Amino acid sequence: MFLAQSAADGKGEPVARLVFPARIPYNRAMRQPKSYTDFQPHVLILGAGPAGLLCALAAARRGRRATLVDASEITARKLRASGGGRCNCTNLDASPAHYLSANPKFAAQALKRFTPQNFLTLLEGLGLSASKEDFGRMFCDQGATPLTDALEGACRKAGCRFLLNHRVEAVTPTQTPDGTGFIVDTDKGTLSAPRVVLALGSPAWPALGGSDSIARLSGALGLTHLPARPALTPLTCTGSMLALCRELSGLSVASAAVSSLGKTYTDGLLFTHQGLSGPAVLQISSHWRKGEALTIDLAPAADLKQLLRDPAHGRLQARTVLAGLVPRRLADALISALTPELTALAQRKCAELSKAQMQALADIVHAWRVSPSGTLGMTRAEAASGGLCTTQFSPKTFECRKLPGLFAIGEALDVAGELGGYNLQWAWASGFCAGQAV
Ligand SMILES: Cc1cc2nc3c(=O)[nH]c(=O)nc-3n(C[C@H](O)[C@H](O)[C@H](O)COP(=O)(O)OP(=O)(O)OC[C@H]3O[C@@H](n4cnc5c(N)ncnc54)[C@H](O)[C@@H]3O)c2cc1C
Repeated sequence: MFLAQSAADGKGEPVARLVFPARIPYNRAMRQPKSYTDFQPHVLILGAGPAGLLCALAAARRGRRATLVDASEITARKLRASGGGRCNCTNLDASPAHYLSANPKFAAQALKRFTPQNFLTLLEGLGLSASKEDFGRMFCDQGATPLTDALEGACRKAGCRFLLNHRVEAVTPTQTPDGTGFIVDTDKGTLSAPRVVLALGSPAWPALGGSDSIARLSGALGLTHLPARPALTPLTCTGSMLALCRELSGLSVASAAVSSLGKTYTDGLLFTHQGLSGPAVLQISSHWRKGEALTIDLAPAADLKQLLRDPAHGRLQARTVLAGLVPRRLADALISALTPELTALAQRKCAELSKAQMQALADIVHAWRVSPSGTLGMTRAEAASGGLCTTQFSPKTFECRKLPGLFAIGEALDVAGELGGYNLQWAWASGFCAGQAV
């Protein structure tokens, strides 16, 4: 049904000779051999994640025959797990400022061409809907799996073929009678098409299909790949900080401002058995570097110094005022972890404290210094920074400048979004744009 030959003929012969045999009639208008199989695709989309699915749907709706190839037995495993199964499918505030890339403007065109509103319209067309939560985050009302199934179903209805359980091992440019094409070696056989889209994602969260395939393939294709780093991943702690985190494991702070290296994120914070997590910590992890400290404001909406100075609180113990700002267990744990001098200060009445002492107590809540030991790495990273260097690709079509016919989209590229639906919006936007061009 598609061109699939064994990867080698047993004598070590290269498979390239099996592709586009000279006697096959060639339809120049379509840059494609006339069918000698029942489905010779115009485009092979490598990776059936959200970027690959949207690219395939957009291409198929333009009349292109698209075949999606994926190593997994099911499509888009990360999408199915996204948002804890609720799928934070886009963010109304999507703009390049919310993405990490060596080429910060690269994402701009695609985000303008396929906006969050465009995605919501597509969702509606699939019979689904989304609701807005904090920070412009949109969640699919029906959940992640129905969304994935609906997208896959729309692709199939539009004529796309799926080759699941096919691991891509190599991509090689080749000559066709009408210019370039590509041979794709998989663990099940060899495929070919005039156009190939790399939608293989990143190494993040390997248990959900994350792989380093892009790094491996890019070397053979002569493309520059920036080293992948885990992003949106929990931070680990050691020593007394780890003991504190374990004591408080499961406790969350609804709104904490976590800062490092000039970046601040204000969102939830969670204590875990390994250290710190929660949205604000996941966000800062994309910027944090080993050896750097975090400064955490556990009550950014309040001013503890002001409250300690308030005459109405003069007869209260400082620790009582402090415990009014953060969960009681956290306040107790923070106070018992202090130096004996500060612990003694926290027992005193507010009216007895000097300005400097009030400041010292306020810093415990508003400028808590924490030195993480590391991150949970790719194993628990929701995304990865790094990837294919974007300067090699058109920001409009996502076609490779030096290898026409080759495209790259989604997390395979050096574009990593913040938490909040930005990564999926990037997958949709880049997938859509490439789908218009393949
Ligand atoms: C647990 C979790 C929750 C998340 N939640 C959200 C969220 O709520 N909102 C949000 O915006 N983002 C979320 N993300 C991030 C988002 O899922 C990713 O950014 C997005 O899936 C990237 O899309 P992609 O299509 O580029 O890559 P992927 O989704 O990684 O898809 C790549 C595909 O390529 C396949 N593949 C890899 N190597 C090979 C190979 N050699 N041969 C064949 N196939 C291969 C994989 O099986 C996979 O299907 C979450 C991520 C995780 C891990």
